[in-house]
Amino acid sequence: MDAAPHLPVNTSAPRGTARLFLAAGTSFAAHLRAYGALPPTLPAATRAGAGAPADAETVIEQLRAAGLDGRGGAGFPVWRKLASTRSHASGRGSRPAVVIANGSEGEPLSRKDHALLSLAPHLVIDGLLLCAAAVGASDLHFFTTAELAPGVQHALGERPDARHVKVLVTPEAFVAGEATAVVNAVERAVSVPRDHVLHLSEAGLKGRPTLVQNVETLAQLALIARFGAEWFRSIGTEQEPGTRLVTVCGDVATPQVLEVAGGTPLSVLIAAAGGASAPVSAVLVGGYHGAWVPAPALDTPLSREALSPFGAAPGAGVVFVLSSARCGLETAAGIATYLAEQSAGQCGPCVNGLPAMAGVLSRIASRSRDPPLPAEVARLADLVTGRGSCSHPDGTARFVLSSLSVFASDVRAHLASTCEVHGA
Ligand code: SF4
Repeated sequence: MDAAPHLPVNTSAPRGTARLFLAAGTSFAAHLRAYGALPPTLPAATRAGAGAPADAETVIEQLRAAGLDGRGGAGFPVWRKLASTRSHASGRGSRPAVVIANGSEGEPLSRKDHALLSLAPHLVIDGLLLCAAAVGASDLHFFTTAELAPGVQHALGERPDARHVKVLVTPEAFVAGEATAVVNAVERAVSVPRDHVLHLSEAGLKGRPTLVQNVETLAQLALIARFGAEWFRSIGTEQEPGTRLVTVCGDVATPQVLEVAGGTPLSVLIAAAGGASAPVSAVLVGGYHGAWVPAPALDTPLSREALSPFGAAPGAGVVFVLSSARCGLETAAGIATYLAEQSAGQCGPCVNGLPAMAGVLSRIASRSRDPPLPAEVARLADLVTGRGSCSHPDGTARFVLSSLSVFASDVRAHLASTCEVHGA
C-alpha cells in the first residue's frame, strides 16, 4: 500500500473494544492516522497482477492463530477459506483467483455492514487487498448496496493501490448475500444462489478459484495483519476471540450497532442499547435464519457454544428483542411469510414448501382452532430441510421450528382461540 509518508501515523494497537471505528472520519488520511499503514511486507504484492507474496503463508497462519471466523453468518474459519483458495489457485495449470468483498447485507435486521462501510471503508479495502495478496488474485470486486456504492467508489479512488477494484451494486433481496449468489451476480448479473457441488474456492467466478468474504471479516483481517493474533485474542473468549459487530434492534430504547467483545451476554447487549422498552419475551439471535432465546436465558453469551442448545448462533450478529407487548407467533408468522417470498424460485421444495409452511404458521397466529396445525408445520419443515440449492429452506425451517418451541404456550392459547398478549 502506498501510505502517504507525510502523514502522522498511529502505530499503537487499539485498546479496549473500540477497534473498528477508531478513525476520525472516512478519508484515507484519517484511516492512516488511526491505524497506520499495512505491514511493509505485503503492500507491493497487493497491486494488480502482482501475484501471491512470499509471506502469504504467514498471513494465513496469523489468521489461524487469531481464530477469526467469518462474520457474514456461516462463521467458517477464515484461514481455511484463504488456504483452500490459495492452494487451488497455485496448483499446476490452475487459473488466477478472484476475491470479492461482500457488503450486500440482505438480512433485514442487520445494519452492521452498513455502519462499517459508512464509517470505516478503508479497513475493508485493506482486508480485500490483503486477501488478494494472500491468494494471488488480481481480479478484485466490491459488492455493496446502491446507497453505499458512491462512498465505496470514492474511498477506492483515494488510494493508488485500490483503483483496480470493481464496484458492483447488490439487489435488495434476502438471498443476494449468499456467497454463490454474489458470484452469480458478478458473473452474469443475476443474484440467485447456485448448487454447492463444487466449492467456490475450487471453481467460482467463471470456474476460477474464488474467495468471497464478508466486509466485517475483511476489516478484522486488516487489524490482525497490523497488530497480530495475540492482540486480536486479548479481548473476547478462547472460543469467541476478538470483537464483533452486533445489531441490537426490536423493542429496545436505542436500536444500534455495537462493537463488543466476543461472548458478551445478551442481557449486556440489551442494556447497552438502552434496555428493553417492556419486559422481554424472547430474543431472536442471528437474524431471520436464526433462533429464539427465551427471556429466562438472557444471560446466555453471544457465542456459538452457549447458543447451540437453542439452535442459535451469533450468525451475522443480530440480536432482535421481542417484548411481551407483542405476540411472538404473529411476529414469527410475519417473518416466515417474508422468507417464503424471498425464495429465488429455483428449487421446488423451497418454492412450494416455504409458502405452505408460512401459511400454516399464519393460521396458528390468527388463532385457528385446528390442533393438527403444529404437527403440519413440523412435517413441512422436515420436508424442505436439505432440499434446496442453498441454505434458505434450512434456515427458514429452523426459524419456524424455534418459534413453535419457544412460543409453545402461545401456540396452546392460540389453538384455544385466545392470545396471551391480545386476549380472547
Ligand atoms: S433453495 Fe430457494 S432460495 Fe435457495 S436456490 Fe433454491 S429456490 Fe433459490
